[in-house]
Amino acid sequence: MRVIRADVLGFCAGVRRAVNLAASAAEKRDKRLFMIGPLIHNGRALRELEELGFSTLDEAELPETLSNSIAVIRAHGTGPRTREELSRRGAEIVDATCPKVRESQIKACELYKKGVQLFIAGEKKHGEVRGIRMFAPNSVVVENKDDVLEAAKTLLAKETPLKTAVIGQTTISETEYQSICTELKRFFPDLAVYNTTCAATKARQHALAELCAKADALIIAGERASSNARRLLAVAEKHGKPAWIVRAASEIPDNLTGFDTIGLSAGTSTPDALINEIEREISIRR
Ligand code: SF4
Repeated sequence: MRVIRADVLGFCAGVRRAVNLAASAAEKRDKRLFMIGPLIHNGRALRELEELGFSTLDEAELPETLSNSIAVIRAHGTGPRTREELSRRGAEIVDATCPKVRESQIKACELYKKGVQLFIAGEKKHGEVRGIRMFAPNSVVVENKDDVLEAAKTLLAKETPLKTAVIGQTTISETEYQSICTELKRFFPDLAVYNTTCAATKARQHALAELCAKADALIIAGERASSNARRLLAVAEKHGKPAWIVRAASEIPDNLTGFDTIGLSAGTSTPDALINEIEREISIRR
């Protein structure tokens, strides 16, 4: 079987930076090491961090004291309150928030302070979106047209006219963002639209779209928990190609042998070593 890699795949700059910052923090051997929420969405990368001495803390259940500890804030970021609580409890903070996510947090905070009603187009339960919301507590997350309709019913009932704006989760696809913005504009014609989507995500989606023309089926190395891996899968499916997200070489489907050329892509949280293993395994299949 022939394997063709997407021109752009795997770790983005934000994830690589977070992993490197955590690895540097682990060199301080005399400190307890914590990640505030999973640093990135990849089980293997997290196991490697655990081997370095990290354990994961839930930001809603921080221990009373964190003295002699390093707390690494993940690439998806967190809210100002968590940061304050970490300092108050004595942790040394290593901020691995991706600079691109930080830009969205700053924009949300700025708009909130100006009294603008903010919409966030993205996944309600996603860590990045939850973190951004902490900077604009009145913001409304819209995942689809139904959410827009619901928000419009509530907000348009208010007597004072609203200034409105929208930002997108960094990993949202352009098409999805445009469609949500168009729907919002039906109800809020003066809506200010900010482009907060990440070029890294777009680059992987475009590279995969190009790869679809050359491949019979696609493998996306990554995890379903990773939003951008799911979006890569959606791009492949949109091009009518059979596609699978696989977490390890052992998960490569048996029926792949029916295809001549396999395209290989990977989510932004997938370590290089895992991509290499999956590529090797596919290429030796008959
Ligand atoms: S996908 Fe983009 S926004 Fe998300 S961590 Fe990577 S570089 Fe940052």
